Amino acid sequence: MAWQMACLLAVILLSGCQGMRDVKRGKPLDVVIKPSILEKNPCYKAGRKIEVKGLMLHSVGCPAPSGERWVKSWNREDYGRACVHGFIDAHTGVVYQTLPWDHRGWHCASGPKGSGNNAHIGVEMCESQFLKYTHGATFTCSNEEASREMALRTYRSAVNLFAYLCHQYHLNPLEEGVIVSHAEGNKRGIASAHADPEHLWRQLKMPLTMDGFRKEVAAKLRLYNLPFWKRLDDGRKARHVIRHYGTRG
Ligand SMILES: [Zn+2]
Repeated sequence: MAWQMACLLAVILLSGCQGMRDVKRGKPLDVVIKPSILEKNPCYKAGRKIEVKGLMLHSVGCPAPSGERWVKSWNREDYGRACVHGFIDAHTGVVYQTLPWDHRGWHCASGPKGSGNNAHIGVEMCESQFLKYTHGATFTCSNEEASREMALRTYRSAVNLFAYLCHQYHLNPLEEGVIVSHAEGNKRGIASAHADPEHLWRQLKMPLTMDGFRKEVAAKLRLYNLPFWKRLDDGRKARHVIRHYGTRG
């Protein structure tokens, strides 16, 4: 057994090193990103850039699991209502990147304290075709098992994508207000009154939460031994020397 254990350990260590090298070269962490920029959407044409200070997690709020279909329906000159940075396909977990990450999106509208669009990247998780929305964020579901599977798949891809983006933009996933859901953005006064994505997990009776999500993103960065960043009071960012997420900062 000893040599099998040694081999297993070597494989884990080697793949960890490769992963760390990849991400330091700017490659995504364990997630497939398919460039699908919405070049015809008026938001893309507006051409505004942001300094990325946070990431907002959304869920589409209707039974449409295919990322490709979302791309098709929003890549139109007459679709000026909304635009996000990516859709996560519920069947495959593939991320369709629909705006450059530092482009100003139209994903969360605004609240009394301004708009998350000015500083947050917004990513939508696609939802199961077995949901039927009855009113607002309330739905019935004709296949809970398949719907949970899809919700978990998009959640896992979102963890990997957000870990990658935290690394790219020097964000600390555990810092207050950095990773938020649309619903949390609303509570913080920077987004419209939506319940996503927690409404999905709650009604599908899944033990998923935004706190858990943030911890998983941090764990992913820790797994790859990546440094984390802390925003200083004056707004500058400083590299933290302590590499253990969750213990400091
Ligand atoms: Zn939303």
